Amino acid sequence: MEGKLKFIAKNVVASDIWQLHFVKPSGFSHRAGQFIELNLPNSKADDRGTKRWFTISSAPDDSDIIITTRHVATKPSTFKQDIFDFESGDEIDFKGPDGKFVAPARDAKLLWIAGGIGVTPFISQLQSFLSDSDLSRDIKLILGLRSLEEHPCMQLIRTAEQEMVNFSSNIVLSDVIPSGWSGKSGLIDLKLISDISPDYKERQIFVSGPEPMVDALKSRLLETGLDESMFHGDWFPGYSEKY
Ligand SMILES: Cc1cc2nc3c(=O)[nH]c(=O)nc-3n(C[C@H](O)[C@H](O)[C@H](O)COP(=O)(O)OP(=O)(O)OC[C@H]3O[C@@H](n4cnc5c(N)ncnc54)[C@H](O)[C@@H]3O)c2cc1C
Repeated sequence: MEGKLKFIAKNVVASDIWQLHFVKPSGFSHRAGQFIELNLPNSKADDRGTKRWFTISSAPDDSDIIITTRHVATKPSTFKQDIFDFESGDEIDFKGPDGKFVAPARDAKLLWIAGGIGVTPFISQLQSFLSDSDLSRDIKLILGLRSLEEHPCMQLIRTAEQEMVNFSSNIVLSDVIPSGWSGKSGLIDLKLISDISPDYKERQIFVSGPEPMVDALKSRLLETGLDESMFHGDWFPGYSEKY
């Protein structure tokens, strides 16, 4: 499908992390984990161009289309400057939805690994499982963040841990470690994955985040003999390895 999305409003959800709400066009439907292409053809774009791709972080049954994205104060792209200047009623060209980073059959055991804002496909899928009362899925989530202040979905993960009996999550902090932090720290690597999920080779592994992170983890996992069909990646361009 292609056409125009009408902007409604934005709200901040964590440090530098925002949700942008758009009116869902009639006839639009998506699967949790899919993305859309947004295009600002009339803007005076920098060398990164006029198009970006964003996971739809809202659930399929949500009345709005919501994207969740980082807006950095220093040197944002012209695309981000323009879209963050949007006012209610402004429109943007879109294409989609598209993508195969979606949940497999219910009985598959999953390992979700996200770097920073790469958690967006899992936000959509968790909301979808909760609203569909699909509560028995076996999922381990490893979420790498620079700091807890940048956590885009703390409350959702708490709710999922309470309501989904086989869901667990681990936050891994890379930069700002609060005193008394009892969780993991550093960057997500193979040792950390096997510590948290010793059975990782029995799980369908979904990795989402900055391109260098997804590429590095894919190589390391395949070197361990993981069957390539068990690996699914969602590569976000334009972010550094540290999420
Ligand atoms: C399938 C898919 C799904 C995606 N889903 C999401 C999503 O849900 N949320 C999301 O935020 N993003 C998502 N992305 C990434 C998104 O499309 C943008 O690439 C990303 O948000 C960066 O935006 P930006 O380029 O406007 O840079 P900005 O966000 O403005 O800047 C990001 C960082 O890049 C640096 N930077 C600036 N110029 C360059 C350059 N030329 N090369 C490298 N780095 C530079 C900036 O200094 C800044 O630190 C997705 C991408 C794909 C392909």
